[in-house]
Amino acid sequence: MDVKIPNEVMEVIGKRGIKEADVKDVVMTAESAKKKLKSNGRNLAKKKIGDVTVYVDYELEKGILKEHANVKSAYSHRMSLGDIVNATDKTNWICVHCGEPAMAGHVAMTYMQVTRNGPAVVCQKCKDSWVEEYLATKTLAAAEGLFEKKRA
Ligand SMILES: [Zn+2]
Repeated sequence: MDVKIPNEVMEVIGKRGIKEADVKDVVMTAESAKKKLKSNGRNLAKKKIGDVTVYVDYELEKGILKEHANVKSAYSHRMSLGDIVNATDKTNWICVHCGEPAMAGHVAMTYMQVTRNGPAVVCQKCKDSWVEEYLATKTLAAAEGLFEKKRA
């Protein structure tokens, strides 16, 4: 599958330290494993690459011969996601792997050997979780910076 990344998106994700090859890797892996969230034509996939979890937000567009992915955004976090703590609110996301609605809740997040509960979209059936862009780039990034400062 072709993965198209518009220039303005490439600029944003470049600043976030995410490589084009990683974006393609995340999309291809999600599409072949059928493991992603979807909502109104949007897809959210993630993959752990090295120490970071990389997410890609994309749409699938049908061409004459084949589908391609249009990348809307990509982001990452360094915290590693552990067990689901709770699932409290409905979301518009569907977990494609099991077909169940995904919920907003909390997940145990570990970084530099410290574990705290953080907000995530969770599938209780698959025991999988995803962090949305505003939380990863704001809340988690701030927490990661704080942990690093404490360690230094
Ligand atoms: Zn699921």
